[in-house]
Amino acid sequence: MCFMDRFSIVIGDIAQSDAECIVNAANCSLLGGSGVDGAIHHAAGPELLAECRTLGGCETGQAKITRGYNLKAKYVIHTPGPVWQGGGAGEAALLASCYRSCLRLAEQYNVASIDFPSISTGVFGYPLPQAASVALHAIMSFLNEHDHPQYVRMVCHSQNAADIYRYTWNALFADDKSSCL
Ligand code: ADP
Repeated sequence: MCFMDRFSIVIGDIAQSDAECIVNAANCSLLGGSGVDGAIHHAAGPELLAECRTLGGCETGQAKITRGYNLKAKYVIHTPGPVWQGGGAGEAALLASCYRSCLRLAEQYNVASIDFPSISTGVFGYPLPQAASVALHAIMSFLNEHDHPQYVRMVCHSQNAADIYRYTWNALFADDKSSCL
C-alpha cells in the first residue's frame, strides 16, 4: 500500500475517536486544560488525570503516553505544542517535534491507528495554514519511512480547519501521489 493511502483528514471530536490511540494537545503540566485537553479528560474520566499526575509534566515538543480509561482509544499520547509567538521562536521545529514524538511512541507501542488534533491551533494561537504545513510534512515523512503506525488521521474540529488541511495536503503532496506505489 502506498504510504499516502495510510493518511486521511476527517471532521469530528477526537474524544469520541475509534482509533487505537489519540493524541492530546496538552500543556506542559499535563494536568488538564480547555479545548482538546478538556474534551479528552471529560470523556476519559478522572483516572486519566490521576495517571497524568504521576508523569511529572512534559516539555514542549515531547510526548508521554497513558492508558485511555473510559475512551474508546486504548492509549492517549499527550504532547504540549508550542505557543505561537510570531514564528521566530522555533515554533515550527517544536510543532514538528510534537508530531514526530507522538508517532515514535505509537510505533514503540505497536499502535495500528492514531488520530491527531490540530496541535497548537486553539488556545496556543498557531495560525492554521502554517500549522497544517508543519503537521503534514512531519506526518507524511514519518509514514514514508515507517510501517507503523499503519493509519494516521487528522481530526479537525471544523469544516474550515478540514478545508485548510485538505488544501495544504493537495498543495504539498497531490503531485507525488501518482508516482506512489
Ligand atoms: P492548543 O492549546 O494546542 O492550541 P486546543 O485544544 O486549544 O490546543 O486546540 C487545538 C485545535 O483543536 C484547535 O484547532 C481546536 O479548534 C481543535 N479542537 C478543539 N476541541 C476539539 C475536539 N474535541 N476534537 C478535535 N479538535 C478539537
